[in-house]
Amino acid sequence: MKLKLLKLTTLLCSSILLFSTVSVNAASSKAKSIGPSTRLTATSSSYNVRIKKPKKSLTITTGDDYNNRRLILYVKGNYKSYFNNKKNRKLKVDKYFRSYKVTYSNGYTRIYIRPRKSVIKAYSVTQTSNYIYVRYASPKSMYKKIVVVDAGHGGSDTGATGNGLQEKNLTLQIVQAMKKRFDKNSSVKVYYTRLSDWYPSLDARSALSNNVKADRFISVHINSFQKTSKGTETLYNSKGYKSSSGLTSYKWSKTTHSYILSATGFTNRGLVNRTGLSVLRKTKTASTLTEIGFITNPSEAKSMKANTDRYGNALYNSILNSFSKYPTKR
Ligand SMILES: [Zn+2]
Repeated sequence: MKLKLLKLTTLLCSSILLFSTVSVNAASSKAKSIGPSTRLTATSSSYNVRIKKPKKSLTITTGDDYNNRRLILYVKGNYKSYFNNKKNRKLKVDKYFRSYKVTYSNGYTRIYIRPRKSVIKAYSVTQTSNYIYVRYASPKSMYKKIVVVDAGHGGSDTGATGNGLQEKNLTLQIVQAMKKRFDKNSSVKVYYTRLSDWYPSLDARSALSNNVKADRFISVHINSFQKTSKGTETLYNSKGYKSSSGLTSYKWSKTTHSYILSATGFTNRGLVNRTGLSVLRKTKTASTLTEIGFITNPSEAKSMKANTDRYGNALYNSILNSFSKYPTKR
């Protein structure tokens, strides 16, 4: 591990968007939800934003751009002036509401809805034949299971290096493999600290988790030491926070450790208590940091390079398993 404490630099928000779900064509007047299913839903009687549709059938997708605290509705076709017309929308918003903006480019009209500056909101989007309804609320009231997944290092911080590999790239590939699985399973809402090669500060990583009040936090890392050092190790914090349902960092780490260990087949270095690590100390929920193997060990490096998908799958499964063993109480 090489958790260097880098200077806090001002970061541009990542422009990665999370496309929640495929298009829905509303042919009937029945309400259909767009995007993942949520605990609260937008309806004709409960919404924050109501947008009149220019025609009954529209192809609409949603993107939860949580880095920029906004929802983006992508509507196929150019309806910019239509959606810009105040007559075609009704906002039931609070004093913190920031903006409703419409743009058009590359065949898509984009409607940006920004409820708050600092707080991340979760969204329910429903359409009927005549309207699109958007409702927002705290992630916890929208989702039963919330995870923050952190690909260690990034950008100018390469993390550990060895055998021609960089830790930041391996951790990102593993997280991208996890995302592939989660994109097909909307039972868990996942917030990613990064999905490309940039460096979120350590504080920003735990802040994301604290902002959305995550039920689990997992940080993915690769170890480094000597050529002969080997094995899979998981770090927990005995003095860390618990999840709202009482899950400890230790128990959570135990689950992820067993999954990743069987995926790597490396030596079992076990669970290691680390009370001083920023992400394990500042994240106010059950948190764990997995050290897949040693980048400095030629055989482990080779294996890790070839198996990032496998590790991503293992961590995905460990999260599902943890939620079934230790369900959230909501
Ligand atoms: Zn690391």
